[in-house]
Amino acid sequence: MNILMVNLTSGETRSRPADDPLAGGRLLTGQLVSEFVPPQCDPLGPENALVLAAGVLANMRASTGSRLSVGCKSPLTGGIKESNSGGMAGDSLAGLGYQAIVFLGALPAGRTAVFVIDESGHRLDFDSAEACQGKGNEETAAYLLNRYGQDFCALTIGQAGEQLMTAAGIAVTDAEGNPYRLAARGGVGAVMGSKGLKAVLLARPDKSGKSLEKNARTNVTSFNKHVATSERVQVLRQYGTASTVMPVQSLGGLPVRNFSKGQLPDADPISGETMHDLIVGRGGKGLPSHACMSGCVIQCSNAFPDENGDLLAAPVEFETIGLCGSNLELTSLDNIAKINRLCNDYGLDTIEVGAALGVMMEAAGMENLPANINRVGLPRFGDGASALRVLAQVPQATPLGRLLGDGALATGKALGVRRIPTVKGQAISAYDPRVVKGTAVTYATSPQGADHTAGLTVFFPVDHRDPKIAVSLSRKAQIQRAAYDALGLCAFNTSATGQRPDIIINMLSAVYDMEFPEGWMDTLGLKVIHLERAFNRAAGLTAQDDRLPEFFKTEALTEPVETVFDVPDAELDAIWD
Ligand code: SF4
Repeated sequence: MNILMVNLTSGETRSRPADDPLAGGRLLTGQLVSEFVPPQCDPLGPENALVLAAGVLANMRASTGSRLSVGCKSPLTGGIKESNSGGMAGDSLAGLGYQAIVFLGALPAGRTAVFVIDESGHRLDFDSAEACQGKGNEETAAYLLNRYGQDFCALTIGQAGEQLMTAAGIAVTDAEGNPYRLAARGGVGAVMGSKGLKAVLLARPDKSGKSLEKNARTNVTSFNKHVATSERVQVLRQYGTASTVMPVQSLGGLPVRNFSKGQLPDADPISGETMHDLIVGRGGKGLPSHACMSGCVIQCSNAFPDENGDLLAAPVEFETIGLCGSNLELTSLDNIAKINRLCNDYGLDTIEVGAALGVMMEAAGMENLPANINRVGLPRFGDGASALRVLAQVPQATPLGRLLGDGALATGKALGVRRIPTVKGQAISAYDPRVVKGTAVTYATSPQGADHTAGLTVFFPVDHRDPKIAVSLSRKAQIQRAAYDALGLCAFNTSATGQRPDIIINMLSAVYDMEFPEGWMDTLGLKVIHLERAFNRAAGLTAQDDRLPEFFKTEALTEPVETVFDVPDAELDAIWD
C-alpha cells in the first residue's frame, strides 16, 4: 500500500510506501497531519493538509471495516481533527492501493477542480468542477457519477464547503451511489473547499473486495458472524441509532430547548420505534435498515420516506433527532428529516446546525438582541418551518445563513447568547453533560473537541450521574474508540465486539500473519490520543480548553433527578496521567 501526496499549489505529486501495515484510519491521519501541518497555521490556509485515510481492514468485507478517516487541522476547534464516514471511499482507496491521500497547498484563488483517480493514474478535472459550482451534494454526485460511471465513489462538498463555512462536512457516496454519508464534524468540508477541491472521485476497481488467503477469510467470516448475532446489533438493525431516543429520554439526558431541559413531555413521536413503523407503513423508497458500505452486517442506516413514499432523508440518526428535533422542541419526524436532507445536501453537520439553531431560537426570546439583528427573521422553538426557512439561506450565505453554516459558537457570539453548547468551538452531541457525565468528560478532554464518537459511555450499565466514575469511564471509552477509528471499524461495532477484542485480534493476526501482545488495542488507542494531544499542545490548546461551558455547572436539570455537571477540573486535567 502507498501514500499519495498531491501538492495543489505546485502541481507535484509523489507516492511513498506506507511502511507500517497497521497504521491506518485515525492513527494515520494523526501521523500525516503531524508530519505535514504546522500546528499554528491557519486551518483554511494552504499550509493545512487534507488527509483521506483507509483503515487497516478496508476492502476486506470485514463488517464495518471500511470507514474513511478524514484528517486536518480543524477550523472549528483549532486542533487536530479526524472525522470518519461510511460509504465506499475506504474500500475504493484500498482497492486503488492507497492507504492514504494527502492534499497539500491549494489551487490558485478562484480555481476549483475535481481530483480523479483510477487505476491508470490521477488528474484534475476543472470542467466538471465548474459544472458543479454552487450545487449541492446530490446534484454534484449525480453529475460526476453520470459523467465518470457508477463504478466510482464520489467525495463532494456542497455550498457550505465551497463558502468555507466551518460546520461543513464532506459527503461520501454509498454502494448505491447516493451521497448520504458525511464526514461531518470539525469543518473538514471547509478545509476541502479552501484547497479548491469540489470533489474527489475514486475508482472502485475491486468491487467484490480484496481476495484473502483461506485462514484470513475464515477469521473475517467468523468476525462477521459474531457481529451479526450480537444482541444490541439486532436492535440497531431494526430501529437504527434512533433506538437511543427513549433510553436517553428516560435518563433525562436529551437536549431540549437549547439544553435547558433533559426530557420532552413525550418523546414517543421521535423514537426509533415510531420511526421504524412510519418507514414500514409508508413504504415506497423507505428502508428501515440499510448498509452504508458493502459488507456491513449491522446495517443501522435507514431511508425515511414522506407520506407518498418519496425519499425525505437518508439516514435519519439519533444525533440529528436530538439536536435538530428535541433540542428545537420539534417532535415531527417529517420536519427533522427535512432539516436532515437540506443539511446533507448543503454539506453541513447536523449536530452543529441543530446546536446553532437552538442558540438562534434562544436569541429570538432575548430582550437585548444586537441592534443589527431583526428578531422577526430568527427561528422559534417548536416551529419547524422557521428553522427550515433560515437553513434554506445557507447557499446564499445571507447573514443568518452564514451564521448557521459557521456553527453554534459563531452564532452565539454574533447574537450575544451566553448559553452556547460547545467545547473547543465544536457543538456537543445529544447527551446532556449533566446526566451522561462520562460522555461529558469525553466532550471536555477529547483532542477532537465535543464529539460523542470519541468516547460514548451511555451504554455502560452504570449510574451515569455519578461524578466519581465519569473520568475512568470516559478514559476507557476514548481509548477503545480511538483504537476502532484507527482500525477503520465503525463505532457501532463496539456493540458487538467491545467486550471481545480477541475476536478483532484473531482477525488481524490471520490477515497480517502477525502476533499481537495482550492489551494491543489499548496501546493503539492511547498512541492515537497522545499523538493528537501533542499536536493540540503545539497548536496552542491548553487545559483551559478542556472545559465545558459554565452553564452546565450552574444550571441544574431537575427531571427526573436534580443534577449539574460536577466532575472537578483537577480530575479532567489528570485523565491522561
Ligand atoms: S453500523 Fe451503520 S454506520 Fe456503521 S458501517 Fe454499518 S451501516 Fe454504516
